[in-house]
Amino acid sequence: MAPTTQPVTVTVTGAGGQIGYALLFRIASGQLLGPDTPVRLNLLEIPLGLRAAEGTALELIDGAFPLLASVDVTDDAAAAFDGTNVALLVGARPRSAGMERADLLEANAAIFGPQGRAINEHAASDVRVLVVGNPANTNALIASAHAPDVPPERFTAMTRLDHNRAVAQLALKAEASVTDVDGVIVWGNHSATQYPDVSHATIGGRPALEVVDEAWCEEVFVPKVARRGAEIIEVRGASSAASAANAAIDHVYDWVNGTGDRWTSAGVTTSGPNAEAAASYGIPEGLVCSLPVRSQGGEWQVVTGLENSAVARAHIEASVAELIDEREAVRALSLLPG
Ligand code: NDP
Repeated sequence: MAPTTQPVTVTVTGAGGQIGYALLFRIASGQLLGPDTPVRLNLLEIPLGLRAAEGTALELIDGAFPLLASVDVTDDAAAAFDGTNVALLVGARPRSAGMERADLLEANAAIFGPQGRAINEHAASDVRVLVVGNPANTNALIASAHAPDVPPERFTAMTRLDHNRAVAQLALKAEASVTDVDGVIVWGNHSATQYPDVSHATIGGRPALEVVDEAWCEEVFVPKVARRGAEIIEVRGASSAASAANAAIDHVYDWVNGTGDRWTSAGVTTSGPNAEAAASYGIPEGLVCSLPVRSQGGEWQVVTGLENSAVARAHIEASVAELIDEREAVRALSLLPG
């Protein structure tokens, strides 16, 4: 049956890269927004990546996807974000040998600042943004700061891959299905300081900490999840791409379609509607921080009222301190307006 609704415009940056290649065909097949929603795909690349993105666009056409209304490739951010409803900011500057953290932040601010401005000027009024390119949380903060007319809560950072990794490891350990696991949380930064937390989780309705050992969580599970990206590189010989694309799909699908009562994790802004909830966990305003969330009515809402142990609080504090450090480093370089 032909789709009946108007196409939604989805922009993917870094579309010629690995994650882009794993992501775009799933968007075209309807897995991002659902089986009834046609999509117009705008692919943004830097000039060096344009040919790869153009090749991917040819393959997208060859997929004859019923839901794919159009596909355009450009290196012009204004054109790429024109009328965008969903922006997936994947392209980022990787850390090269000898690069200091300040250099990395500066190089990425030069990408995410202008993209934030272009979103502010050209995107649709309901635009939702997911930043995948690293350092994702701070890149999201920079993009949002350059888009003063877009509510800050529309800018998010991807910690769903960390969340999915945590759910999968817990299910493996408990010899349960991933569908039996609920209430896992990834707190903080999408970095090695993140805190995958099972203390509020349940497995088949039972508290997870009755099923798995607390010492295993602290000594094996937390470092395993936090270092999974490095493990993939070591084993596969390349960084994770399909699982990152899968997590981006999960994040946007849940954001748009809702999570019901289940929780997930997302990097959300701690200013605006979620400021009070973030403050209740000791997390200050003006960050993009991974928190337990539900999506209702197209908005991420932070799950409130959780009691955290001293160990959990220490982990969360350390990761939040890193986010504050990144923000201050960007501010010191005058890359954060306001
Ligand atoms: P990938 O597609 O593999 O990765 C893209 C970004 O996603 C990187 O910043 C990467 O971070 C990040 N990422 C986040 N989570 C994960 C995860 N779990 N696993 C792996 N990566 C993750 O990179 P490629 O080099 O293949 O492609 C990047 C493309 O972006 C290139 O084609 C380049 O030309 C383009 N680009 C486009 C820009 C634009 O549109 N303006 C700007 C800059 C680049 P990490 O580096 O830490 O792995």
